[in-house]
Amino acid sequence: MRVYQLARKLKLPTKKLLRVLSEWGIEGKTNLSSLTPQEEAEIEQLLKEKLPEKPKEKVLSPRDPIVTVLGHVDHGKTTLLDALRNTQVAQTEAGGITQRIGASEIYFQGKRIVFIDTPGHEAFTAMRAQGAQVTDIVVLVIAADDGVMPQTEEAINHARAANVPIIIAINKIDKENADLDRVKRQLTRYNLTPEEWGGETICVEVSALEKKGLHELLEMIFLQAEIMELSADPAGELRAVVVESEINRQKGPISTVIIKQGTLRIGEVIIGGEVYGKVRAFINWRGERLKDAGPSTPVQVLGLSDVALPGQIFVRVYSERIAKRMADEAKEEARRRSLRKREKIITLESIFSSSQKEVKSLNVVLRADSQGTLKAVADVLTNMGDENVKVEVVSQGVGEIKKSDILLASSSEAIILSFNAEVSPEIKTLAHQEEVEIREYQVIYDIIEDIKLALTGMLEPVYAEDLIAKAEIRDIFKIPRVGIVVGCYVREGKVIRGSKVKVMREDKLTGEGKVASIKRFERDVNEVSTGLECGVKIDGVDDIQKGDLIEVYQERRLR
Ligand code: GDP
Repeated sequence: MRVYQLARKLKLPTKKLLRVLSEWGIEGKTNLSSLTPQEEAEIEQLLKEKLPEKPKEKVLSPRDPIVTVLGHVDHGKTTLLDALRNTQVAQTEAGGITQRIGASEIYFQGKRIVFIDTPGHEAFTAMRAQGAQVTDIVVLVIAADDGVMPQTEEAINHARAANVPIIIAINKIDKENADLDRVKRQLTRYNLTPEEWGGETICVEVSALEKKGLHELLEMIFLQAEIMELSADPAGELRAVVVESEINRQKGPISTVIIKQGTLRIGEVIIGGEVYGKVRAFINWRGERLKDAGPSTPVQVLGLSDVALPGQIFVRVYSERIAKRMADEAKEEARRRSLRKREKIITLESIFSSSQKEVKSLNVVLRADSQGTLKAVADVLTNMGDENVKVEVVSQGVGEIKKSDILLASSSEAIILSFNAEVSPEIKTLAHQEEVEIREYQVIYDIIEDIKLALTGMLEPVYAEDLIAKAEIRDIFKIPRVGIVVGCYVREGKVIRGSKVKVMREDKLTGEGKVASIKRFERDVNEVSTGLECGVKIDGVDDIQKGDLIEVYQERRLR
């Protein structure tokens, strides 16, 4: 087939097709007759993947709800999940061996609910951070004897940030010191007033241990799901989200995915980021081998090239070759991204300077050392801004900054404001990896000033200068087309390329510039230490003499 014929077939301008082909290394072929029909089909498929298609008419069918259980540690999340699973096993086949695949399906009154097995908000938020929200409903477990605790509050924040409805399961009602009224009273403070108290929040009283209230809880989940009218297109493009992955010694990489849209079938090739593979087999949580899996079905997939991270979204492609090429591209892109990382960090300045027109709210995660200051700062922040821009506190809490704060900030493109709250080195590292900015403050006034400036897009970073070296100028060379190069003797410290330079003559500043390059014995070097001589090219300085002293500084960003 000739290129123009293929172009016509694909309804693409020939020029564009040629450009795309050359980008993929299929260059200069105006005659594609050397391509096998298989390759031709691959090119067609590639084009389909890459070029936006006219949206097809979607045929939506109702789908079953996907639920995550959140709550404070020891409030009974695991016990509740197990109890719910057990009602299931008892109801279906006796002695069925359930598999731990990361998600389970529970059938109740002829309907199905999918539970994600990893309770806790870290997994929940990690998925959201990847842009793959699988959870439709959050069941928030609160122990009746303990009440709302810090992680309960965090869970509420996470669910809200993800816009996922919350059903409250008040657990451990069998305990003597259970105080249901206290829990409900506490909930009203978070705008989660129970229905029976005139609010809109569904509250179910359960005992996971004694298996009480479980049916009612399941009914309430269905009720909520019905209201939400959850739907998906089983015939649409495949979208399968990874919820858990592992390496198995015999079977290789294994991932559990939940199908969000489309239908996955044996033998199909799927790709998600850098991981791809021909699906050899898949099983559900009861260990049954399936041939296909539709929306809201969790399956464990064999045959992938590597371990995929939770939250990764898999799509279907035509052949393994295409998949490999796309995976290679994704790897390359990941590499490039890590190089660009530093530039891309979400910072107070960048939020408003880069996309001033689009951003309507500045999202912040707030942490303070006491409830009093937290409330004070939160109140001030939420009242700032005007009709165009406002501050949105996506989460607030007392105490040190936690991993979940970083993940939440990353997924909601928020910055973290710490007011006298502790920030551990691990958290700083994680923030760096997740490209989240943490700004630390001791004075409320400073926070207000910064946010004010950020809201008006005028925030300037503040730098400190650290003196890192002093050197004497012993020679001056004026080199045509290069500029001034000085011969220096490093008296103390280290002269480092790229540092800032101040030229001092008899203790007076005569100019400022930058170390553009350093040479030792004709060779370019990055730094030169005390007691050595070197040639330094200084940019931005004209007036420099023998006997001048240069002070070398490195800038350190304060905020
Ligand atoms: P998780 O950390 O939220 O997953 O909590 P677990 O499910 O591990 O439960 C913590 C403890 O609370 C365990 O000792 C459970 O046996 C106990 N527990 C869980 N649910 C109930 C309940 O309904 N009643 C009572 N009395 N104890 C419970």
